[in-house]
Amino acid sequence: MNGRMGVLGAWTLIAALATGMDTGHAQTTVAHGHKSAAQPQTQAKTQPKSRPWMNRSLSPDERADLVLKEMTLDEKLSLLHGNGMAHEAQWQMPLTAQSNGGAGYIAPIERLGIPGIDMSDAAYGVRSSGENGRYSTALPSNLGAACSWDRHAAYEYGAMIGRELRAQGFNMTLGGGVNLTREPRNGRTFEYLGEDPVLAGTLVGQLMSGEQAQHVIGDIKHYAVNPQETGRTVVSSEISERAMRESDLLAFQIGIRDAQPGAVMCSYNRVNGDYACENDYLLRDVLKGDWKFPGFVVSDWGATHSTVKAFHAGLDNEEPVDEFFGPKLKKAVENKQVSLAEIDDHAHRLLRSYFATGVVDYPPQKSVIDVERDLDVAQAVEEGSIVLLKNERNLLPLEGRKLKTVAIIGAHADVGMLSGGGSAQVDPPGGNAIDPAQGAIVFQNHTHVFFPTSPLKQLQKALPDAKVQFNSGEDATAAAALAKQSDLAIVFVQQWEMEGMDLPTLGLPDNQDALVEAVAAANPHTVVVLETGTAALMPWAGKVESIVEAWYSGSRGATALANVLTGGVNPSGKLAMTFPMNDAELPHPTIAPLPAEDKGAGSNAVNTGGNTRSGYSVHYDEGLKVGYKWYDAEHKPVLFPFGYGLSYTTFSYSGLQVTPGEKPSVHFTVKNTGKRPGSEVAEVYAMLPASTDEPPKRLVGYDKLMLAPGESREVTVDINPLYLSIYDEAAGTMKVAPGAYTFAVGGSSQTLPLQANTTLTGAEVSR
Ligand code: BGC
Repeated sequence: MNGRMGVLGAWTLIAALATGMDTGHAQTTVAHGHKSAAQPQTQAKTQPKSRPWMNRSLSPDERADLVLKEMTLDEKLSLLHGNGMAHEAQWQMPLTAQSNGGAGYIAPIERLGIPGIDMSDAAYGVRSSGENGRYSTALPSNLGAACSWDRHAAYEYGAMIGRELRAQGFNMTLGGGVNLTREPRNGRTFEYLGEDPVLAGTLVGQLMSGEQAQHVIGDIKHYAVNPQETGRTVVSSEISERAMRESDLLAFQIGIRDAQPGAVMCSYNRVNGDYACENDYLLRDVLKGDWKFPGFVVSDWGATHSTVKAFHAGLDNEEPVDEFFGPKLKKAVENKQVSLAEIDDHAHRLLRSYFATGVVDYPPQKSVIDVERDLDVAQAVEEGSIVLLKNERNLLPLEGRKLKTVAIIGAHADVGMLSGGGSAQVDPPGGNAIDPAQGAIVFQNHTHVFFPTSPLKQLQKALPDAKVQFNSGEDATAAAALAKQSDLAIVFVQQWEMEGMDLPTLGLPDNQDALVEAVAAANPHTVVVLETGTAALMPWAGKVESIVEAWYSGSRGATALANVLTGGVNPSGKLAMTFPMNDAELPHPTIAPLPAEDKGAGSNAVNTGGNTRSGYSVHYDEGLKVGYKWYDAEHKPVLFPFGYGLSYTTFSYSGLQVTPGEKPSVHFTVKNTGKRPGSEVAEVYAMLPASTDEPPKRLVGYDKLMLAPGESREVTVDINPLYLSIYDEAAGTMKVAPGAYTFAVGGSSQTLPLQANTTLTGAEVSR
């Protein structure tokens, strides 16, 4: 940490203590030794007495009420819609130019000291920095980061995004994607946190806590049951209440509980017939009713379809324009279809989030970000996210192998590494690492964007005694020839994804399987590195010695990867989603094609008018059986299971003890039985009583521990009763069913050496 930052950081902390400000996670130690304190903030100037809502000792709700009393109806209404989207011709409004170049903008109420809200997409970094002439760091994809199973890393991930948003002048993020991986071909799988609600929910909670500690309004999305992009603006997800509450919605429930984000974004799709942004059940009954969410609901872009219906259901803010919540809403007030009390409730929700997250008290100050610090965060997250899937005869790590020649093949590994597209896209410094003149890959007018982080260069650096050469892989025969004359071959393969489209298959495109087969046939010492945003099929898995999943690896991907391959970093990632054997094993072997009348609804084209004619629906009859729960229940073998990942060391588990009770606790010992320091993710699963009719097991807790060679650590995981709960549709409650439970502990969902039985008495779990 540089000295100046240290002084400023300390000052902020002292100031925070003096003012009683809630610094959240004021200090979290992260990899690479950074201390992250709540960032230096410039406090808003002392306010005159006539603005009592500026008194920070009042609660956000009290402050919101005080300012609301002073507001005119038009001022209240101005909070309830956006003002266009910068850089988007179809969505320009009078105030768009006044915005900060982001996706959405809520007007300020200057006379009362209420700031405008400048929103930016920021899934794995801040979007649109290219168009805005700025710089943003790309973190590894969200799915990759989920594979770290590391709460601290998730917090730092969010904090880095929060810092860069503020430095660029934004005070609200549109990140926080947590749709469960029900459909792994979903083109946005890389933006989400995998297939398990407890893992995804707890990590998104940390991520958004990190963001909000920087005084940006957090947003969790896309609420809800939006597992595919095909027909996303018309499709109805047909699903049982119980399946939703125990899986897709549970991830949101946990994330909202842990981070208390200012906003929830409702999704494009319909759920059981009604659009998510006008869905009484999702918004009024569950989110604002059962979960008592006090913040505001923001629509996805162009996902509002009505005025009165959406408003009554609980949508608070239409983005990015005012088609339904502008003049039409005012008319609805005049016609008494919408009451003034309702307007107050919705406006209050926005204002209380402004106060709660500190965007009023700590306005963003444009500044130059600490690029090196953020690159270190990106690298550290990637080092913890890479998953070692196979390592026969301990081919990896490469250190000490006395390699004379190494072949690097495919996927533009000479110049860069792949990133995910759509509204999540982060712009690489210097532009796409692939020179378009030399054939940047383009799919349906969308360019595959590579970050300038070169595996070839990093491996040349890490293996100074070896001749490390590159072959593009375009010609499999030439690639195999290079592999044959080399001591070792590393083949890079990739699968590009983006919002607005789904993958036709989890199989790799462009004959990459044939490339791997050819290289593996030429050299038995072949490593495959995957750059994918979801699971991949690997018909060649038995023929190569090592397989490494690097995901979309972010700005410092190649450095992190080279560290893992050569042994500077011991891999510790574990899969946040199952890798199936093939598409036919999925709950839905194919994605139902869109009816002809709905063509276009699956792309970025937004259907503001609503297409109520559409009969396009997907029936999620697999219900509770999402991800590993499906393969377990159906007895289907998988390629690599949920929770799986290898290390260069080994771990043993012993001494399981379960203390039953309202909040059961699971106690065990993990030992590093190998010769290297390493981190192990210890996973705790529960098998519920047969009477519950649940899938065979579910994740109920986890912990990640770093252990020196030979070191043992006793671990206690307290199990939150919510994670043991089932949803009782008749009673409308989550509850722990009474009966016999088995707790199982180990290093993967399919390697659980410790098991213990216990009996739990039933209890209702807070709604
Ligand atoms: C996406 C959202 C995004 C919004 C604003 C929509 O198309 O679904 O995730 O936040 O655009 O860019």
